[in-house]
Amino acid sequence: MIELNTRKEVEVIDVTFYVEKAIEESSIEQGICLIYTLHTTTGIVVNEAEPGLIRDMTSLVASLAPKGAGYLHDRFGGNAHAHLQAMLLGNSAVIPVEGKRLILGTWQKILFVELDGPRKRWVCVKLIEE
Ligand code: ZN
Repeated sequence: MIELNTRKEVEVIDVTFYVEKAIEESSIEQGICLIYTLHTTTGIVVNEAEPGLIRDMTSLVASLAPKGAGYLHDRFGGNAHAHLQAMLLGNSAVIPVEGKRLILGTWQKILFVELDGPRKRWVCVKLIEE
């Protein structure tokens, strides 16, 4: 389990290093790795961690599900936009592991996306041996 303390309302954290560490500390050489967020207002995506692209991504989801657009769930804390944005991004990634390493392309990083911070967050990393 990875514990994250987000510091902003919307924040993207590259968690690739933490996942690699979990694989190193395990006894698994090859198989698959599940990265799964335990929250309903966060996302997990695999993509490039270039700062401009990260801002483009958060702008896109904000435009698709803008804050305060008359959602029914806003009666319970006003965070419906964050739930809907999280649904658009997805809440997990599955990545192959070979020779104790994640199979990632040159620009692929595992990104945790906070959409209703700042909060304490948990990301589950589960390894399954082949
Ligand atoms: Zn809510």
